Parts: sequence; C-alpha cells; structure tokens
Amino acid sequence: MTREEYADFLLPNVEHDRAYYENLYPKRNLKEGARVVRVAPSPTGFVHFGTLFQGLMDRSLATTSDGVFILRIEDTDQKRELETGIEQILDALLVYDIPYDEGPISREEEKGKYGPYIQSKRKDIYAAFMKDMIIHDLAYPSFATAEELEEIRKFQEGRKARVGYYGKYAKDRYLSMEEVVERVKKGEKYAFRLKSRGDFENKVTYHDLVKGDVEFPENDVDYVLLKEDGLPTYHFAHVIDDYLMQVTHVVRGDEWLSSLPLHLELIKVLGLPSVHHLHTAPLMKEEDGIRRKLSKRKDPEANVYEFKKQGIPKEAVKEYLMTVINSNFEEWRGENPTKDILEFPISFEKMNVSGALFDMEKMINLSKNFISLLSAEEVYERVCAWAKDFDSHFYTLLKENKELSIATYQIERGGVKPRKDYTSFGDIYSHTWYMYQEAFDEEKKNYEFDKITDPEEIKKILTIYLESYYEESDDQETWFQKIKEMCDQLGYASNMKEYKQNPENYKGNVADVSTVLRVALTTKSRTPNLYDIMQILGHEEIKRRFDSFQKI
Ligand code: GLU
Repeated sequence: MTREEYADFLLPNVEHDRAYYENLYPKRNLKEGARVVRVAPSPTGFVHFGTLFQGLMDRSLATTSDGVFILRIEDTDQKRELETGIEQILDALLVYDIPYDEGPISREEEKGKYGPYIQSKRKDIYAAFMKDMIIHDLAYPSFATAEELEEIRKFQEGRKARVGYYGKYAKDRYLSMEEVVERVKKGEKYAFRLKSRGDFENKVTYHDLVKGDVEFPENDVDYVLLKEDGLPTYHFAHVIDDYLMQVTHVVRGDEWLSSLPLHLELIKVLGLPSVHHLHTAPLMKEEDGIRRKLSKRKDPEANVYEFKKQGIPKEAVKEYLMTVINSNFEEWRGENPTKDILEFPISFEKMNVSGALFDMEKMINLSKNFISLLSAEEVYERVCAWAKDFDSHFYTLLKENKELSIATYQIERGGVKPRKDYTSFGDIYSHTWYMYQEAFDEEKKNYEFDKITDPEEIKKILTIYLESYYEESDDQETWFQKIKEMCDQLGYASNMKEYKQNPENYKGNVADVSTVLRVALTTKSRTPNLYDIMQILGHEEIKRRFDSFQKI
C-alpha cells in the first residue's frame, strides 16, 4: 500500500487535495506593511469583553495599515456551542460598530473571497491538509481512548514524568499501516495526531510582538489535530485558516502562548510562511486584594451585553478599550479630541505586556464625558434607542414628550464646561423624571427640603411667589431679581455677603428660598439651573405643582 492509498483509506471521499485550496484563493494585493488580522471567537457563551477588546485592536491594526480585518467563527467545539452564539457575536460587532472586512454576515451569508469563514464549513479543507500530512508521514491515526489516555497520565504522574502523549508514551505512532488498516476495518474509531519531530531538550526563542523574546522548549507532544468527528482542534484549524486567509499577524489572548511551540511546529512541518504573533494580556479584576482574569462566570461586566443594557455609549466603551490597548491613547485623545478613534496610530510597543485592571470608574467617566459633549437632540435619539430596548415606561414618556425632553437635555449643555451628570443613557431617567408631569405625580415622595422645613412657611413662600413675583416671560436676570425682592419682603437676606456678616438679622437667605421653589417643583434640593427648569415646565405646570404641594 502506498502512502497515498493509505491516506485515501483513512480519509475517503475527500474531493480536493491541499494544492487545490492553495490555488483557490488569490494572493492578496495589499501595499507593503498592510496587516491582515482576524478575530476568531468561539460561539460558546455570551460575547466576552475580550472579544470586543480584540476586535477593536484588530480593526485599528488593519485600518492604520490599509490592511484587512477578518471575522472568523471558531465553532469546532460543538458540544459547548450556544444556539445563538454566532448571532450574538455578529450582533456585538454591529452594536459596537467594529466593522470587519471579511467574514460571516449571518449563518448562511458571508463577505470576502477567502471563506468559508465559519470553521465547521471548512471540514473538507482540514481533511485535505490532513491527507497531505498522512502522505508525508507527519501525522497518524490514533485509537487511544479517553481511558487509555487517563492511564498514561496516571502512570506519568506516578513517575513524576511530564504528562502527555509523546515519545514512547505515544504508542499509536509506532503502528504499521497494516495494523492500522486492520483496526479501522474492525470499526475502531480514530483521531489524527501530529507525529511530532520536536525535541523537548531543545530550547527555542521566539519574538512575540507584544511579549518580546520568549523562550520555550520545542514541542514533542503528538497533539490531536483532527478529532473522531472529523472536526479539527483549534491548533490545526487556526494554522490552516490563517495560512489560507493570508493572515500576517495572529493577535490573540496570551492564554495561547503556551501552545505556541505546537503551532510553530505545525507551521514548520506544513511548510507554511511564518506569521507574526501578538499575545495580548487579558483584562484583570481585583477582588479582596487578589488579581485575577475577568471571568465569564463571575463577572457580569465581562459580558459585552451588560454595557448596552446599562446604556453606556458604545463610543465610551471603545475609548475605554483603547486606553487599555495602548498606554498613550489618552494623551493622543487629549491632543485630538474630535478625531475618529481609528485614526489613532496604534502601536505594538505600547501594548500592555501584563494584564490591565478593568476600571469601571474610568469607563463611567468616559461615558459621562461623551454624553456631555452630545447635542441635546443627539442625547434624545440615543436615549430613545436605549429605552426602546430596556425601559418601555421611559420610552413612552420620551416619545410623548420629545420637545420637553430635548429642552431638558439642553440645560447647561454646550459651552466649555457642560454638565456631566448623566453617567449613561440608562441613568438619565433618574435625573430627569420630575420633568414629566405623569412621572412627577407618580414618583414624588420625599421632598428634600433643607433649611426651610416648616410647611406653613413653605406654603407662604410658594403662594406669594406665584401671586406677586413669578412672570413666565422674565429673563433669567429679572427672574432672579424678583426672587431677591421677595426675600426682602419676607425677611430673608437677598445679599449673601450681608447675610454672612449678620445671619441673626434674617430668617435665612436667598439660597434657602430658591431651594424651597426648587424642591416644591422637583422634590430635589439639587438640580440643574432652576430658571431653565421653570421655563420648560411653564406657568400652568408650576402652579399645578405648587397647588398640589399646598394640599399635602
Ligand atoms: N477561538 C479562539 C478563542 O476564542 C481564538 C484564538 C485565536 O485568536 O487564535 O480563544
């Protein structure tokens, strides 16, 4: 039996050979230095924050070099696959506006000439490469069952030997073709393993673009490349995909650094061109003084969807991510406040070598800042989009009160020091509910009166103010002037300086009186500019609120 016949026997019905696929994809016509990168998430759980992190990094590495950014779905672990896993990934990249140049658009459709971009659709390709490896004696079928592997492990542990299927422990690598054929004919199941040529005693140095020079022993473990079900392992699949998709830079989490020796061996034995690697540090979290990786299981903030739910603008999330990706981003942003984030010259040198702490406070600050710089109309559009998905009650209010909402967002917006009290779109209702008649009536509970608390005195101030001093058409100066006049009439100091000199001469001061008006209208002792609030509410509503207070 020739090796070709042997390969045919082990992998029947494989339509094309390796060369067919190598000729199928055109050489990319890119300028010198263009980077071809990919994000390759597995659809096995909610979309992790790390996927966005990596997506943004890839997008900018590609954009700043006129390169290509690919989305590839690595769904070879079908046991752990989530039913909507692929859709969630596509949705997250869409929602966060991280467009990819090539990849799936849905389960069925895709864009780009180097696909399929979903690994489960590439089975034939992996089989063709495996056949080539069998022909060249670079891989072999292995019948080792889970129980046998467990026995080997126990044996190795007992002798304090390195654990794994390698060297003399890798029994199936010594099977003859005849023995294999016989066992296959008997119906035994088999996977394909690498026939490693590595020597564990040999040290190799590799230059990772983020970690710098890393030294490790050569791989000598005969890892599984193609599983019994015909699906490849990550190791095998990504090496072939990156090659056929002509990826230039493999950017991935540093949990893969330890498998790099295997990947380098695969690249070598398959005769593939070398590719750069960037192993990036994960986002960390500090808990009880201990640093650990942001975990899918324990940390809600690891779930990309959480930020959408909270109403943190996607722009703020991306700004935050970029500060983590490159330490000089904030400085650049300071100098270029209005530039698109993708114009930032991302660099390998400035990437974090060890994990950065996930900093929610910083994200919130960026969010506040971003919202404060939007126009009132933009805030309205964005908060509507958020409320539509997450707060139907607020959504109805917004739709029924468009003008009032925009006018509210307009208060102290614009100018050099805009107000920054909205931390997210999800937080706006808590700052503005009292502007809506209906919500005010429903939610008014604790009137936060401060210095002046006597209900009779409060009622007196409200009545006199409305009857003798309030005029809807007054400008802000006149409006305030009149409040002061009222203070003089009622025995409150209209001049703070005088009040401070002789407080005993007064019942209180103009700030205390303004607070009474403010609290009666909003229940809150602190609000944005009261004059603006009163202008928006209008005479009738002010009267209604004062009247309703009088009845308490
Ligand atoms: N599917 C792998 C993961 O989710 C991708 C790693 C890579 O980018 O190569 O970790």
